[in-house]
Amino acid sequence: MPGEFAFIDALRARVRSAPGVTLGIGDDAALLAPTAGEELVVTCDTMVAGVHFPLDTPPADVGYKLAAVNLSDLAAMGATPRWCTLALTLPSLDPGYVDPLLTGLLALAEAHAMALVGGDTTRGPLTLTLTAFGSLPAGTALRRDGARAGDAVYVSGTLGDAAAALALRGTRIDASDGEGKLARTRLQQRLARPTPRVALGEALRGVAHACIDISDGLAADLGHICRQSGLAAVIEADALPASRALLPLVADARQRLRLQLGGDDYELCFALPPEREPLLAAIAAQAHVPLTRIGTLGPGEGVHLIDADGRVVAPPVAGYDHFG
Ligand code: ADP
Ligand code: MG
Repeated sequence: MPGEFAFIDALRARVRSAPGVTLGIGDDAALLAPTAGEELVVTCDTMVAGVHFPLDTPPADVGYKLAAVNLSDLAAMGATPRWCTLALTLPSLDPGYVDPLLTGLLALAEAHAMALVGGDTTRGPLTLTLTAFGSLPAGTALRRDGARAGDAVYVSGTLGDAAAALALRGTRIDASDGEGKLARTRLQQRLARPTPRVALGEALRGVAHACIDISDGLAADLGHICRQSGLAAVIEADALPASRALLPLVADARQRLRLQLGGDDYELCFALPPEREPLLAAIAAQAHVPLTRIGTLGPGEGVHLIDADGRVVAPPVAGYDHFG
């Protein structure tokens, strides 16, 4: 088992030099050179074993998801990822666990040109914290408080896959049904390795009025945009996009709605003035993700679900709250 310093030396050797990094891993602190005229966007997310992921999760998936959830927060601000620091608390420096964890994390971080520039390594119950730094032209961030009455509400990708994977966990996979098995594998993949919508967030700068990533569930997260913008949202339940993996597995519409509001999707939800809707086809193509109009914002408060006839649908779930 390597000691802390051997571990840090090995980590340093794995990390490449990157733009804006004057001094990376190895000193008391990193030196970064922000670009003139830009703002720094800083976010931090922690993953605790047994809370955010089961203990038997493959370490490469744990590392990947840690990078993904932080990149998703940068995406929701419209930021371009730049740098990150990693606080690692581990019961031991077992290379069989730590090496694949770093491989998963660095694979996604490097794919988005986000350089690891520092961190901390301590012994304790398995807990991982990534602080991610992004940048954008000053004044162009996608905030939660910028939506206006009359804006359309959009979501990227599909909703409910991660919640479905969680719900299916522990249920037996019927090996006789090849298609069902494939669908479950796809759902598991969406839970274990969500795709942060970084290119979409960047493309929405100067286009969307407000944006948030859906980590706690659509109703809860859109509720933040509503509260901070002083508006109400009316969402058509039937308009919520579902994946081809989810549709055949969950035939009951109300059950499906519960999953689609369930969270952990890491899609972006944004408010768009209607005159800019014609811009979205090109943005969706460029960002390689479908975009779906799911409702509108207007005066009032809260998130209201309606059915195809305009009747109010009782929400089947609340969002995730660690202390709720
Ligand atoms: P200090 O005692 O000054 O806090 P450390 O021994 O904790 O220094 O860290 C030495 C160097 O290694 C620092 O540059 C730190 O940022 C880096 N480092 C330590 N742990 C990690 C980690 N888990 N990931 C990335 N860099 C790390
Ligand atoms: Mg330290």
